[in-house]
Amino acid sequence: MIITMSPGIKPGDERVQAVVKKAQGLGLRTDVKVEPGKRFSVTQIFLLDGTVRGCCLAEYMFESMSGVQAVQRVTPPRVSVFHNGNGGPHHITLGSIKIGEGLPTRLVAGPCTVEEHVGKIIDGLVKGHGIRWIRGGAWKPRSSPYSFPGFGERGIYLLLKAARKNGVEVVFTEVIESSHIDVVRRAIEKTDFKGTVVLWVGARTGNPLLLTALGAQRDFPVMIKNGVDDERVQALYDRAEWVLAGNNRWDSHGRLDARGSAKRLNDRLILCLRGTRKTDPRSPWRFSPNFHWNNILGGECWAPVAMDPSHCAGDMKDDLVMKSIAEALRFDPAFIMVEGGYPEKGFNGFKGHCDVAQMVPIERMGKVVEMVREHNQTVHSTDVF
Ligand code: PEP
Ligand code: MN
Repeated sequence: MIITMSPGIKPGDERVQAVVKKAQGLGLRTDVKVEPGKRFSVTQIFLLDGTVRGCCLAEYMFESMSGVQAVQRVTPPRVSVFHNGNGGPHHITLGSIKIGEGLPTRLVAGPCTVEEHVGKIIDGLVKGHGIRWIRGGAWKPRSSPYSFPGFGERGIYLLLKAARKNGVEVVFTEVIESSHIDVVRRAIEKTDFKGTVVLWVGARTGNPLLLTALGAQRDFPVMIKNGVDDERVQALYDRAEWVLAGNNRWDSHGRLDARGSAKRLNDRLILCLRGTRKTDPRSPWRFSPNFHWNNILGGECWAPVAMDPSHCAGDMKDDLVMKSIAEALRFDPAFIMVEGGYPEKGFNGFKGHCDVAQMVPIERMGKVVEMVREHNQTVHSTDVF
């Protein structure tokens, strides 16, 4: 990596020294060069492989440092969920808010699938409860071809139009194949949605082509859920690695082509714990909770960790989803994603088409907000949610 400082900053400047110190602290070697110009000199810091390889570090670790004008990658990135974080936890900005380790937990709510009345639900969540981050799936991978699969492209338009109308700051939606990325991009343009869209990969669809395509673009932050059958934390890292590798190119000898490969990867990556296939058929939970994975993830990887207590519990009976939310909050996630809408009777007698058993009724979302607020008050001394 080559770090170019703003014109006029000399090698002895404390901002250069700060970059050198950080790079060396991370295990790199440094070489400071000066290109004298007519009016200004330009100082560049070459970061060379040391005990850690330069390709394993992300640009963002230097980009935000004082005096840094540009960070240029020379070799293709090979950022792993382990190495990227050597400089401390990686915070990601969604809308106007930073998320990640040590920051307050946020709430994302919305229906499982986007349906005709999505505007009514979003209106209820935003105006009724002050929720600003919304979820909704347009493409839903189902286990039976006879289950409702979502409205696809039309669903994205319904979702973004409603989000725009209600001033939603961040929208989360699922993509199940790489062509969906462009469909979302087009819909954003056409609906003129100004917020952030986070694309997520579900528990049943982590195919490498999709993950690679998500890593190769930088328009959308990406959230990866753990797979239904994941037994180990490593399986989640493996999915993340496909995103972090970006799209590499290979030459005709089968060697990695440094010049043709992505120079910048997408490291706005969030991991999401949503439970794994349950082993005890008598358990009331739909999946076995795996929120405790955060104890491992937090210690060894840098990505913010979110949690999905809705799919983990799978049922509102006996308030199971509420209990699942309480359980997730114990692990201080970056955010929780909760399915909410009209499970019983709703707008015009409407009832959701998908995952209604676990849907928190809109009128009970206030309780969820309160739980997140209480958590933030206790742990982060703030009452945001
Ligand atoms: C969802 O969030 O609606 C969903 C289908 O989740 P998962 O992939 O975790 O089952
Ligand atoms: Mn769902």
